[in-house]
Amino acid sequence: MRPFSYTAPATVAEAVDVLAASGPGTKILAGGTTLYDLMKLDIEAPTAVVDVHRLTELAAIDTTGPGEFSFGAAARMADVADDPVLRRDFPALAESLAKAASQQLRNMATVGGNLLQRTRCGYFRGGPAFPCNKREPGSGCAAFGGLDRGHAIFGGSDTCVATYPGDWAVALRAFDAVVDVIGPRGERTVAIADLHVEPGDTPQREHTLAGDELIVRIRVPVTSAGRGSTYHKIRDRESYAFALVSVAAGVAFDDQGAVEDCRIALGGVATLPWRCPAAEMVLTGERLTEESALRAGEAAFAGARPGAHNVFKIELGVRTVADALRIAGERAVR
Ligand code: SF4
Repeated sequence: MRPFSYTAPATVAEAVDVLAASGPGTKILAGGTTLYDLMKLDIEAPTAVVDVHRLTELAAIDTTGPGEFSFGAAARMADVADDPVLRRDFPALAESLAKAASQQLRNMATVGGNLLQRTRCGYFRGGPAFPCNKREPGSGCAAFGGLDRGHAIFGGSDTCVATYPGDWAVALRAFDAVVDVIGPRGERTVAIADLHVEPGDTPQREHTLAGDELIVRIRVPVTSAGRGSTYHKIRDRESYAFALVSVAAGVAFDDQGAVEDCRIALGGVATLPWRCPAAEMVLTGERLTEESALRAGEAAFAGARPGAHNVFKIELGVRTVADALRIAGERAVR
């Protein structure tokens, strides 16, 4: 590990001042469950670390509504996952957190830091023996011609096909969340749809926040489709594993029993949280049946570009979408 400076500001305002005075090698430390790993692997080598995880200003959880729920960036994943109102009114959000990582990690990790976690591509974390454009731009990509079983079938480029590894952001994407951020140039709000970016020619750039910007809170509009929702995660083992395919789904029905609002977003298959508007349109105005849910799943996975070892994600994904919609429909108020 390389030497670095460490600062623990007492307030958000102080944190902004520290970030304004910091150089480009500065990293924000929240729960530390990703940053410490990457520092030990020498993938992240910050010159300065600004620790915000004790800032109580950032830890508030507000599920009193009525129009939106709000989660401070430093709220712990476990605390948000266990919120009884969230579990009842927005099960997809609560489940996306409860099915992530392990209990110990969820006790430490924050809902703001979770949004910006880096990929689990084994070549990215495997060190200099493997070329990796994300770790070292221009060096190549070991996943091409290598083992790409866990890699993306949507949103990839010629430089990188690493999947976005998170669950929480996938559920937030399905329900049009926004992220409030603060930095030396003031406050702004970023739609979750605009937070993460595809790799393109710059796979080392994963999101649209500046290095001196701090996530303050995440806000989610309360919607009927939130009540009828689920986060369905398929993985190699039932705990402490990343998604092969995951689906955040929500539905709300009109008075006639047809779907009037449908939300579908995918995880584990794309380079960023992947919303599926074409699949949502398949169901909107239709009855939710086994057949229509499968049609929505097929629409969600149309246009997938699998590699050598991950074509199985298409069939698995179609069926996971259908199953998620069934669960969501059973929970929806009719
Ligand atoms: Fe690196 Fe992306 Fe290739 Fe993985 S897929 S080795 S992260 S460039």
